[in-house]
Amino acid sequence: MRKKIIAANWKMNMTVAETESFLESFRLEIEDVTGVEIVIAPPFTALAKLSELLGGSQKIRLGAQNFYFEKSGAYTGEISATMLRELFVKYVIVGHSERRAIFGETDAIINQKVLAAHASELKPILCVGETLAEREAGKEKQVLETQLRGGLAGVTPGQLLDTVIAYEPVWAIGTGKTATSAQAQDAHAHTRAVIAGLSDQATADKVRIQYGGSVKPANARELLHQPDIDGALVGGASLEARSFAEIIKAGGEE
Ligand code: PEP
Repeated sequence: MRKKIIAANWKMNMTVAETESFLESFRLEIEDVTGVEIVIAPPFTALAKLSELLGGSQKIRLGAQNFYFEKSGAYTGEISATMLRELFVKYVIVGHSERRAIFGETDAIINQKVLAAHASELKPILCVGETLAEREAGKEKQVLETQLRGGLAGVTPGQLLDTVIAYEPVWAIGTGKTATSAQAQDAHAHTRAVIAGLSDQATADKVRIQYGGSVKPANARELLHQPDIDGALVGGASLEARSFAEIIKAGGEE
């Protein structure tokens, strides 16, 4: 049984003050929720405050949105895994489509980040997904396979168990368009099959695969109850405590 994992990706939103007030309301909203792992990935500037407020909470885990794979040195503007670990960050989002498209991250760079995350005992959330043009050309499965094989090169089966995959069709991110539950399930089943090819079926059956792309309280339940959908990576709808909590409740056993 895979425990659902629902993560907030706040992107370049939320000041420290907004983070504090979010957490105050959010904690009340999720008081009765059980059976779901919750992750919040704020911007770097709010990580220390959120870490302090969470105080090692088992219920809400701290995530980061990015990091650089080198240990330290002359990398202006970058943040290392050690710096994240010092703040008790547990998960790190790697290879988000915005990092790929805007900041030029390739599968090779993403792979270095996945490997560096594991070397520092951070759990990567590896994002993969096709663009609209790729889907319209019928290439979505091929794109997923390339991104998974590239991003996960050299990752051991043991490390795969500490890796979360987020299937995020680029055309559904921040657009209000959601993949249908059938499209998402199909992509997730394919993702699991690729992972089985990289390791073995027993390992692939344990790897959690999140769906991301305009997840909202209204569509969360159906998506989260597909057989191969093990959680969600939520952008826009995670900025508001109640809507993020409703998505979590849709996947939990409240
Ligand atoms: C995301 O960026 O990871 C995401 C899924 O965003 P949204 O929920 O806003 O589509």
